[in-house]
Amino acid sequence: MSNIDLLTRRNASVPRGVALATSIFVEKAQNAEIWDVEGKRYLDFAAGIAVCNTGHRHPKIMSVANQQNEAFVHTAFQVVPYERYIALAERLNQLAPISNAKTILMTTGAEAVENAIKIARHYTKRPAVISFVGGFHGRSMLTMGLTGKVIPYKAGFGPFPASLYHVPFPIAHHGVSSEDSLHSLEKLFKADVEPSQVAAIIIEPVQGEGGFNIAPKEFMQALRQLCDQHGILLICDEVQTGFGRTGKLFATEHYGIEPDLMTIAKSLAGGFPLSGVIGQAEIMDSPEPGGLGGTYGGSPIGCAAAHAVLDVIADEQLCARSVKIGARMLERIQQMKDRSDTTAIGDVRGLGAMVAFELVKERGGHRPDADKVKQLTAKALQHGLILLSCGIYGNTVRLLAPLTIPDEQLEEGLDILETSLVEVA
Ligand code: PMP
Repeated sequence: MSNIDLLTRRNASVPRGVALATSIFVEKAQNAEIWDVEGKRYLDFAAGIAVCNTGHRHPKIMSVANQQNEAFVHTAFQVVPYERYIALAERLNQLAPISNAKTILMTTGAEAVENAIKIARHYTKRPAVISFVGGFHGRSMLTMGLTGKVIPYKAGFGPFPASLYHVPFPIAHHGVSSEDSLHSLEKLFKADVEPSQVAAIIIEPVQGEGGFNIAPKEFMQALRQLCDQHGILLICDEVQTGFGRTGKLFATEHYGIEPDLMTIAKSLAGGFPLSGVIGQAEIMDSPEPGGLGGTYGGSPIGCAAAHAVLDVIADEQLCARSVKIGARMLERIQQMKDRSDTTAIGDVRGLGAMVAFELVKERGGHRPDADKVKQLTAKALQHGLILLSCGIYGNTVRLLAPLTIPDEQLEEGLDILETSLVEVA
């Protein structure tokens, strides 16, 4: 089996709407390494889009998942429930920065966001939801509506549910300050929707698909205050930021605030599909029995894996490791930026190991260069490094290495990145 044969079959059998970040096909994956069907080895700085913070097939996670497979695979939690779901809810309630929390488990990130909005609307009895330009919340109708990027996510798929509004996310180097964002919210309340009709504001503390933009602390605190003032719920979408990626278990912990609801998915279960909403008990208990749930929500294997993920994060001190990896990545990228023979690097940023940099048309400038990012990711792939782009202008490269990556492999990946930056200059 060759990559090219599989690509031909894939293109003939799968719609093009499912985009391709690489044209290699996986045979095997272990921790931070992937081997394709032709036997070539790659370092994985994509981690299944921020899903494998604990690496591919961590032995402890696989062992627990295998045990679960031997016992039972599916009963539907609302038909015949199981202890591991309850124990996971108990654990997450303790770990989340929300006092007196309850947790519901689902399968995908979009489903978690859908449920958070359902719960917020039910509790507040208000329709409107505010989200941010450049934010990404999923591909279902409601979460597409909340997403703040038209191409490729929304174009041609409307109409979306009503009462959804967007305001600019504070990104200093794009010329949007925290004050500008707060001012836009005030204007929205004057021009489009009265705050008493707003159920929730949903925000990624660090925008993921939008370009790893880190919300300033004062902005998150001001949002919390504004929500309290108007009885609006604050939802932190931690689908991409969660489970150690930013150097804390949840990115929200960097901000000294309590959200009312949090959405989680991706690295929660180390590669098994599992998501959830954690929220204040009173809010979470608002919908009537039967109003929430789903056939596969909180699957037994997902719950089993998530317990092992939380154990591994604690035992291997992956939050501290995330800080260390992130600092090393930032140091190396800064060195690459300072070289005169690499392609022009713009803003470099990170929170823990959630690190990204922009490629720009000229050194010292801001004009985004999305084509160069395409060349860079292709070049890096040739040299054996899987990289993902992101950002509203498509000119941001994000590094999502597993937090369990050995130091030598981290350096090896960064070396490939450096060589590739020179070669595409
Ligand atoms: N929210 C955020 C912040 C995300 O990054 C994503 C996925 N990239 C989602 C929601 C949607 O998750 P899923 O693809 O599992 O539906």
